[in-house]
Amino acid sequence: MKQTRQIKLGPYILGSGNPVRVQSMCNTDTRDAAATIAQINLLENAGCEINRVAVPDMQAAQTLGAIKKATAAPLVADIHFDYKLALEAVKQGVDKIRINPGNIGGAANVKEVVKACADAGIPIRIGVNAGSLKALKDFAGRPNWPDEKWAGTMAAEALSEANLLEQLNFKNYLVSLKSDNLERTCLAAEKFAAQTDIPQHIGLTEAGSFLAGAVKSSIAMARLLKQGIGATIRVSLTEHPAMQVRAAYEILKALHLRQFGPEIISCPTCGRCRADVAGNVKKLEELIYADKNLLKKAHGKKIAIMGCAVNGPGEARDADFGIAGGEAEGLWFERGVPGPKIPQDLWIKRLIEEIEK
Ligand code: SF4
Repeated sequence: MKQTRQIKLGPYILGSGNPVRVQSMCNTDTRDAAATIAQINLLENAGCEINRVAVPDMQAAQTLGAIKKATAAPLVADIHFDYKLALEAVKQGVDKIRINPGNIGGAANVKEVVKACADAGIPIRIGVNAGSLKALKDFAGRPNWPDEKWAGTMAAEALSEANLLEQLNFKNYLVSLKSDNLERTCLAAEKFAAQTDIPQHIGLTEAGSFLAGAVKSSIAMARLLKQGIGATIRVSLTEHPAMQVRAAYEILKALHLRQFGPEIISCPTCGRCRADVAGNVKKLEELIYADKNLLKKAHGKKIAIMGCAVNGPGEARDADFGIAGGEAEGLWFERGVPGPKIPQDLWIKRLIEEIEK
């Protein structure tokens, strides 16, 4: 297993031996403090532990203080091109800066940002994306490189940018190496990890729609996390950021790296099914993930919603409790033992009651 150094972000220690933390990014206009605060609160209810916001201009940077004051989880300012935005973000009290040292105008600017972060005691993430590599400057289009070459170039640029920070004796940083290509992203992260003990934020970028992106991200993250690579993760999907948080936890839960929320098991349904399994599962998940307290109470519980009583209770014998569908009602069961029948329109109410016990 890859061992990395540890860094501090708000209340968290990140790196080897610590929980992999879940991050998402707001898609609100950061200049609209009320909308951004509302979305961050929603993300926090869904379990988001680190929130990133885009800082495209000075007005956005100057709004960060108000956002920070009204939210609890560490706030990360995502900055490109203008180092002065990073300096303002630090002044506004953010918990971390995400920059690409290669695009903020040279060593002197990087030095100023690093000094400001060091003085404030906050970390930096160096984000290297395949689409904005310095090596691409010489190409009119996209070079026809094999994945190995893409990955090697990404890792080399990340190392060179990390060296800028090391030369300034700044150690409180992570690095991310992202692309939309699974193999390139994993190879780049592996190559980087083989050469340093710097912790990484991992994920694909522009991974795609909910299903395609979640599948691709799961494969990539499982490969890296199993090697001990990845201190924080973001599942980048063309979907509401709260769903990105949900997907991240499902990956960590499946890998037994984190426990979070309930495990809801449900059957795919077949010709025996006379119940709305999909609708009930969706409704239950929506209610749980919109309510911080309910989510906390559901933590660690295995809940089943099955399509029929023929196989349902038996197949879901591992569940703490659940319902197996019938014509207009369902059979309640706890640890495989059948209980009373419940009308279909009361399933959700009964399941919530049990979660709240
Ligand atoms: S639990 Fe019943 S409805 Fe669901 S897949 Fe199995 S047999 Fe079909």
